[in-house]
Amino acid sequence: MADCLFCKIIKGDIPSDRLYEDDDVYAFRDISPQAPVHFLVIPKKHISGPAALTEEDEKIIGKMMRVGADIAKQEEVGDAFRVVFNNGAGAGQTVFHIHMHILGGRSLSWPPG
Ligand code: AMP
Ligand code: ZN
Repeated sequence: MADCLFCKIIKGDIPSDRLYEDDDVYAFRDISPQAPVHFLVIPKKHISGPAALTEEDEKIIGKMMRVGADIAKQEEVGDAFRVVFNNGAGAGQTVFHIHMHILGGRSLSWPPG
């Protein structure tokens, strides 16, 4: 999508602190980290958010989770990290290209608020 921030990051039109990339997914550090380790994993396919997923997207979401867990291990967060997908402005979604947040490196309270 031409005017999508994360599509532009995938294309390299906007710089990012890349952690991983393959044909399907792209991972990079969040520009406004909410924890010592805070990165995003996104599919290269533009999908607006969790509510827009279709059956054909099931595999890519599974891959995002596996890639995210591998990066969390590399980033040495131990076994304590949080995985978040925000859906809709009311839940805090600000970029409408689906993304998985992974946060770690500090204690994380529950419920998240
Ligand atoms: P959300 O609020 O769930 O839509 O998350 C969007 C996330 O994207 C926020 O945590 C932002 O800090 C992050 N973000 C926005 N612009 C950039 C950027 N250019 N590079 C990296 N992360 C970004
Ligand atoms: Zn996009």
